[in-house]
Amino acid sequence: MKAARHESHLRDGRVILSFDIEAVHQIEAARHCALSADWRSESYQRVARQVEWLRRVLDRYNVRATFFWVGKVAWRLAYLVRALHREKHEVGCHGWSHRALWDMNPEEFTKDIELNKRILENITGEPVAGFRAPTFSISQEKPWAVQSLYELGFHYDSSIYPIVHDRYGLAAAPRGPFRLVGGTAELLELPPATWQLGPVRLAIGGGGHFRFWPLFICDVGIRQALRDTGYAMLYFHPWEFDTDQPKLPLSLFRRWRTYTGIKYMRGKLQRFLGQYQFVLASQAAKELDRHRASLPVFYLGAAKAEMGKQTQGRLT
Ligand SMILES: [Zn+2]
Repeated sequence: MKAARHESHLRDGRVILSFDIEAVHQIEAARHCALSADWRSESYQRVARQVEWLRRVLDRYNVRATFFWVGKVAWRLAYLVRALHREKHEVGCHGWSHRALWDMNPEEFTKDIELNKRILENITGEPVAGFRAPTFSISQEKPWAVQSLYELGFHYDSSIYPIVHDRYGLAAAPRGPFRLVGGTAELLELPPATWQLGPVRLAIGGGGHFRFWPLFICDVGIRQALRDTGYAMLYFHPWEFDTDQPKLPLSLFRRWRTYTGIKYMRGKLQRFLGQYQFVLASQAAKELDRHRASLPVFYLGAAKAEMGKQTQGRLT
């Protein structure tokens, strides 16, 4: 029975559309840029304008999406968090200050995410189920992050990009949804979509990867992910739709990586929205819980040796 339900998910594959709501001056590439208070203030206002545009477009296509908010942005733009929540979009956490995990110890991480979660829950009046680490920075060396997220009450995570990359990525992780174990805790993991070409796995799930490839390439990869895993998790950022934004003072390579393809993104997103069926990340996580035992398990750090299969998982 469980297997039959699983197969029906595979046939009806749906896209999980997500947005990481951060200001462009908070991204990893900008961390050493000296920016004025005016520049940063304008950058927050630009987030508001892009989110307003996203709201209108999603409404036009009747699509609901998952918005992972940086706490500092949500605090300034609480009216937008509230509006999205009222319109049945999902609100998730993306860190209070968008600090990557490699910059924090376990205590700092827990404080940062606890504040992020509390602010969002105060704004919407509802518990937050999902988390995405800034710069996909949950790595093999950070099993404590899973423990901490579990103890803070999260149900699912979307921080493991199963690819080879210079800054992030765990290439050995499964392509589709899986059970992520760290310490004594377990979370449901919804990884960004990839395209498997023989032994090569290409990132096509969002950000610079999605901006770089023409849409038809992303389509082929997304359709394969839907067929193979039942879901395709995509992620975008508000600044990726902001065509006339002032540019950060970056090196040539970083400038190319940050801004390539932005002028096509509004058109790409709208073409894309008409082609697929969509589901909120929290809804996908609930569906997956029904056949959780059949999902692959991926262990961080020494979790496997310590715990075997005796982990705590949260079912809803
Ligand atoms: Zn981010």
